Amino acid sequence: MIITNTSVHLKDLISIAKRDRTIGFIPTMGALHDGHLSLVRAAKEKCDFVIVSIFVNPTQFDNPNDLANYPRDIDVDIKKLSDSGVDLLFIPSEQEIYPMPDRRIFDFGSMDKVMEGIHRPGHFNGVAQVVDRLFRLVQPTVAFFGEKDFQQLAIVRALVEKRNLQVKIMSGPTVREHDGLAMSSRNRLLTNIQRSQAPVIYKTLLEAAEKMDTLEVAALKKWVHNTINEGKILETQYVEIVDARTLQPIKKWSDAGSVQLCVAVFAKPVRLIDNIRLK
Ligand code: AMP
Repeated sequence: MIITNTSVHLKDLISIAKRDRTIGFIPTMGALHDGHLSLVRAAKEKCDFVIVSIFVNPTQFDNPNDLANYPRDIDVDIKKLSDSGVDLLFIPSEQEIYPMPDRRIFDFGSMDKVMEGIHRPGHFNGVAQVVDRLFRLVQPTVAFFGEKDFQQLAIVRALVEKRNLQVKIMSGPTVREHDGLAMSSRNRLLTNIQRSQAPVIYKTLLEAAEKMDTLEVAALKKWVHNTINEGKILETQYVEIVDARTLQPIKKWSDAGSVQLCVAVFAKPVRLIDNIRLK
């Protein structure tokens, strides 16, 4: 595996790699787990040359403590990626990605005015800034994103369409711990008690999917909220039931053809997200 820190070197390597070959790209913020590695496996299956980036993007953090505490484990990450058969790892500095402050404002209409967009102001603008820059540097044929970050996936697809970027977006299913907790770099920040309660989130989502036939939308949201908060260790920030295509909240089950239940939950100060397809 080749490792580079500079975009100049990256461009050279890519121009050599690209001849007649497809490039698969997985942007990450490091502290890698099997969720990330599942995307690497998908990329290896679909593409000839696999590039991963590790960059903790400051512009997508609305909370300075979250940025400061974000787990970093670069040596272990390098070993995992090398063992997984990644061809090229890009670990840029902040200066490399943002030689000048990025002041671009992206407009995603109503898509970023819900869920993460409301509770993490500026988050998706930062995601769009870094993804746009990384795509321009890497010029991937296919880029891989996890369904765990359901709204992010929709925003990235919208970005590609809006800016007419020549990259195909593919998604991978959420990879979970043996007890159902969605894998996340932030899980390692949980205390033992919080970690033992955290599987309640996915268990509740699964039960919610069963209750769709008997409860209306508002009642189901309330039930999810109460069930997750019951143990007093977890605290929901939002519970939303949305049209999976537009991300807009629905009022009746018949409002959308495909429906997603999305939650953000605090195990303070750690914030976890998860989602499930209801229909
Ligand atoms: P991050 O390092 O958190 O920015 O995540 C990098 C990529 O990995 C994003 O596309 C995430 O959606 C994806 N990802 C994170 N956690 C998981 C998971 N548990 N299962 C599948 N993909 C994931």
